Formats: sequence, structure tokens, C-alpha cells
Amino acid sequence: MKKIVVLGSTGSIGKNTLEVARNLKDKFQVVGLSSNSRWELLAEQVEEFKPRYVALCDGELAKKLQQRFQGTHPEMLAGNNCLQEMVLNCNADIVVSAVVGAVGLPAAIAAIERGKTLALANKESLVMAGHIVMSLAKKDQILPVDSEHSAIFQSLRSGKSCEVKRVIITASGGPFCDYPADKLPDVKPAQALKHPTWQMGQKITIDSATLMNKALEIIEAKWLFGLTAEQIDVVIHPQSIIHSMVEFCDGSVIAQMGSPDMKVPIQYALTYPERSPLRVKGFDLPALGSLTFKKPDAEKFPALRLGYQVAREGGTTGATLNAANEVAVQAFLDGQIKFTEIAMYVEKVISHHHFIKNPCLEDILAADAWARQEMKKCLI
Ligand code: NDP
Ligand code: MG
Repeated sequence: MKKIVVLGSTGSIGKNTLEVARNLKDKFQVVGLSSNSRWELLAEQVEEFKPRYVALCDGELAKKLQQRFQGTHPEMLAGNNCLQEMVLNCNADIVVSAVVGAVGLPAAIAAIERGKTLALANKESLVMAGHIVMSLAKKDQILPVDSEHSAIFQSLRSGKSCEVKRVIITASGGPFCDYPADKLPDVKPAQALKHPTWQMGQKITIDSATLMNKALEIIEAKWLFGLTAEQIDVVIHPQSIIHSMVEFCDGSVIAQMGSPDMKVPIQYALTYPERSPLRVKGFDLPALGSLTFKKPDAEKFPALRLGYQVAREGGTTGATLNAANEVAVQAFLDGQIKFTEIAMYVEKVISHHHFIKNPCLEDILAADAWARQEMKKCLI
């Protein structure tokens, strides 16, 4: 029986993780759950899974949750540091990081330092500080949840790392893949929130529409698998059946395929190196008819270029890109900026940031804070 903590249990990945745990009750015990503000859903999860620890970032709402469970089991944590506190106090084997944004970084570091397995959906922590996170982690201590990275991780089992020529990350292309470029500035949040294949949280759905999500995934792949920017290619594959591929030095290309369902990579991260049965939509190639591919359009989606820039430069550029993007996405959702201004302003903020080649954690957090301020200036 493995003990798991789910950071961000009320989100899209969090709920899917709990479904995996529900289906594999004999293998997993949930010992910690957390959310930012959705306390009523968190309360339902607490009633079902009876974790020892519950963390709710919003202190006022935490009081309501506490009243609901007065005199019963969970130990309640609240406030800005509650995720790290839960990771440090709980006796978990696996920490699933399913929170969105930079807030995931300190908890990811705490999990690794405590020797826990980190099932990582929160790609932002690697984008910000991949060199720090990876240098602390032992082999296979971080297991990818992101479907593309899980596909690469699984495909890599076919050869040695020195035999890898390149990885090919697939992208659905998002809702605007075939949309006229000159109409993109007028795209509204409701249109951008309609993803063709995946049901996800708002931030990653907008990132998928701008292709910033692919940019983040290029950086995530660089750190997770020790690749150079030149070894990472992106191909548009609208059916999202091939989740990514690895090309080895002898020309063999190994792909991981299946119906698009996040429970597959989540469960693989939890059960690794074993597999367990999982009920998913049938894999029916004749019904699909064809799998199609095309080159991404970096002119139309400049975020992609920024992903490669960060993968080449490293240093503080990742933290700067991530923070500027988080603010820009929220500004777009709030109707403050146009869709195409997200990548435009992110590029502007990156272009005049104070670059540090080998930043420590304080430098990373300072770059993050600076980029948020700079992006806010673009909004005035
Ligand atoms: P959601 O927005 O659906 O969920 C985010 C979770 O994090 C919620 O539980 C939310 O709590 C919590 N949260 C939000 N802000 C904070 C904060 N400031 N402090 C603490 N907790 C917070 O996101 P997703 O599940 O879609 O994505 C989560 C992560 O996984 C992201 O990094 C994303 O890039 C990555 N990912 C997601 C995929 C997907 O299919 N959804 C696929 C691959 C990667 P509350 O509910 O209270 O707001
Ligand atoms: Mg992905």
C-alpha cells in the first residue's frame, strides 16, 4: 500500500488522480489533499478519502472547512506555506503535484528533499527552476504526469539515453490551429477555452491555444530527459493519439499511443515501474481512419519560439517567461489584453530581464516577482 498526497486535488488532474486512487484502493491510500479555494469540493473529497492532512490556501475558507470537520480526523493546514507543510509533515511515499503555476515550486523541492517520489503535473516548477529541481532528484524520483512526457518516459525504456537522437513532442494544435492568423487578435476567452481534445483547467487551456503550453513542454522535456533544444521537435497531431515519440540513433522511432485520457499517464506515474488495469476508451484505429501530422506555424504562434529560446538560454529566462505568461493569461481572461498580446508581452518582458546564468532559488524567485511587475506595467 502506497501513501499519496495530492496537491491541487480539486483541479482537473487532481480529480483524475483521485479517480485512479478510487479504482486502485488496494494499492493507494490518500493521506493528504489540498486546494486553493474550492473548499466545498475539497470537503467532499475529505469525506470520501479521509486523509490525515488537508491544506487550504485561503485562510478564511479554511475556517469553514475546519468547522465542517470539527472533532474528526483531518489535521488542517492553511496559508501560503500550507503545501510545503503538508509535504513535510505527511508520511507519504508519493506526492502528486497537480497545482497550477509557480506556487508548485517550493512544494516540489520539499518533496524531493524529503526523498518522496514526485508525480509531476505542475510543469511550471521545471520551467522555472529545472536545473535546481533536477540536481536534487535521484534517478526516477520525478515521474512525469504530462501526457507527452509520460509518452517519452515510456518510449525511453526501449533504449539507452546515449542512444537517443531526438524526441518528437506531439501537439493537438489547440482550437486555433486552422484559424486565420489575421483574426487571432479578436479571439475571445470563451473561444480560447474550448479545447478540441482535452478537458483541463483554464490556465493550461489558454496555454494550449497560444501554444505556450508546448513551449513549457519543450523546457520540461529538456530538464526531465537531459536534452538539448536541438534534440526536441514539435509536430502538430490533431487526433492526440500518439502522445509523443523518441527517435533512437539507429532510426527506430518508438511512440506511445492511446485514447487521450489523463488517467493513463497519472496511473503510470503512480504504479511505475508496474502497470495496472485501467478502463479507457477502446483503441480503434479503423474507426479513427487516419492519423495526421503537420509542422507547427511559429509565425502564427510565436510562443513556440520562446520555448526554444528558454531551452537554449536556461538561467533565469524560464522563471521570467513563466511568471510573465501567468499574469498575461489572467489578463486575457479578464479582458484586459488581446489573445495575441499574451506572447507579445511575454517576449517583451523576457527581452529586457536581467539574465543570470546560474541562478540560485532566491534569484529564480526574484526573477519571477520582477516579471510579474513588468507584465503588470504592460497592462496599464
Ligand atoms: P486546474 O486549474 O484544474 O487545477 C489547479 C489546482 O491547483 C486546483 O486544485 C486549485 O485549487 C489549485 N490551486 C490553484 N491555485 C493555487 C494556489 N495559488 N495555491 C494552491 N493551490 C492552487 O489545473 P489543471 O489540473 O488543469 O492543471 C494542473 C497542473 O497540471 C498545471 O501545471 C498544468 O499545466 C498541468 N497539466 C494539466 C493537464 C490537464 O489535462 N489538465 C495535462 C498536463 C499537465 P482550487 O480548485 O481551489 O482553485
Ligand atoms: Mg501535455
